[in-house]
Amino acid sequence: MTSSFSNLSLAEPLARAVAEMGYESMTPIQAQAIPVVLTGQDVMGAAQTGTGKTAAFSLPLLQRLLKHESSSTSPARHPVRALVLLPTRELADQVAQQIALYAKYTKLRSTVVFGGMDMKPQTIELKKGVEVLVATPGRLLDHIEAKNAVLNQVEYVVLDEADRMLDIGFLPDLQRILSYLPKQRTTLLFSATFSPEIKRLAGSYLQNPITIEVARPNETASTVEQRFYSANDDDKRRAIHQVLKTRGLKQAFIFVNSKLGCARLARSLEREGLKTAALHGDKSQDERLKALEAFKKGEVDLLVCTDVAARGLDIKDVPAVFNFDVPFNAEDYVHRIGRTGRAGASGLAVTLVSGSDARLVADIEKLIKKKIELEAIEYDEDQPRGRINDGRRAWREAGETGDGRDAIASGPRREREREHRPGRETREPREQHRGFRPAVASRDPFFEKPYESSAAADAAPAWESARSAPRSSVSANIKPKRKVAALFKAATAVVATTD
Ligand code: AMP
Repeated sequence: MTSSFSNLSLAEPLARAVAEMGYESMTPIQAQAIPVVLTGQDVMGAAQTGTGKTAAFSLPLLQRLLKHESSSTSPARHPVRALVLLPTRELADQVAQQIALYAKYTKLRSTVVFGGMDMKPQTIELKKGVEVLVATPGRLLDHIEAKNAVLNQVEYVVLDEADRMLDIGFLPDLQRILSYLPKQRTTLLFSATFSPEIKRLAGSYLQNPITIEVARPNETASTVEQRFYSANDDDKRRAIHQVLKTRGLKQAFIFVNSKLGCARLARSLEREGLKTAALHGDKSQDERLKALEAFKKGEVDLLVCTDVAARGLDIKDVPAVFNFDVPFNAEDYVHRIGRTGRAGASGLAVTLVSGSDARLVADIEKLIKKKIELEAIEYDEDQPRGRINDGRRAWREAGETGDGRDAIASGPRREREREHRPGRETREPREQHRGFRPAVASRDPFFEKPYESSAAADAAPAWESARSAPRSSVSANIKPKRKVAALFKAATAVVATTD
């Protein structure tokens, strides 16, 4: 199998766009997926974020849609041919931007619809006609209900970050959307993990899929240098300043575990002279997009973010990622540090570990299967302690603890739970679907009844093992994933109220 784009026989407009992007060779997921998608087969793909997954599905999909290119201005000549579904607005926006770049020399049209934005401009775009529609499930259903989006000519559907969509509770929405699509189509499913639920979803909606697995989700990219520094909570901001200085870093992502902690840390770092923006679920859509744009343009040095807000975001050349808080879930560590070292670039991941984090670090060590060495930071004498202390004073004056972890402990548990309920951010209130008759027409009766674990299931679901073996005292703060049965009950409730 070749890894050069030039041997792919991509149509000239697509090859030109790829060359313009500066891609020289295909990434492993591209080398495996593109030839398969070009043949029109269904694909079930597991790939780390930042592996070039978007081009892996969108380039062959665009190539196959070229036969529908039309210069006509008539909307009827531009029906939706490909649908790409993603769990969050940021991801939808990002994927849509990439697709627009790949399609720029073709006559194929693409657009994106997601919640939290006025429906009108989206409606205008949809009414003009688009071949490729990128969407989050809730907003897409709103447009279907309003008859702005007609999906009966869809030939390709991509379920991207499918595991995340199920986590969020989008299964009933996905089922409805899929019921509107022609049965004769190509379905591509990408997921970080192939959990039993994902396999069932694939079993119901994919036909003889080719499985492509380029990297286990618990693998961290070899291009990322991972460092773990011992720093008590009072020293963590000073540690950030020190590492930025020593490494000559201009930009970084800083991860924290709560929205409250995120806003506080961003404010404190800003006071200490760093250009900082915060990205978390309580920010408006507009603020979130602006923060991202500012970071991309280099107008902001540090983007302080929570896991949900930053999941899957692709920002080129993020040279470093800091874990100001050690994540509660080891899987989040892998996702966080996946923000750096993307597509072969080198990156640095710094985790600041305080005395109470031992269990969480042990979990990470187990997941990444690498021995973690805890190092001490050597602080420069000229490191501006005074400036930082000033910041701390201001922080205390604002009535805060000055401690990210304290902020979590003292904050209501709801704070963390809300951060893990991003579906509500992307979906419109249920009331909006009133009067909408869901067409429940899944092909597998499994999706009509509550989930019952079967001995045949490949692995014990996460919540089962979590219940039998509590991971650490901290895990009391972690909201367990909702059982799939709960999702089905929710679906039933919707059917009952809307019928
Ligand atoms: P994705 O995993 O799709 O979010 O892509 C991660 C990043 O890799 C994006 O910024 C892409 O522009 C970039 N990328 C995708 N394919 C290639 C490639 N073949 N060579 C270099 N960069 C790539």
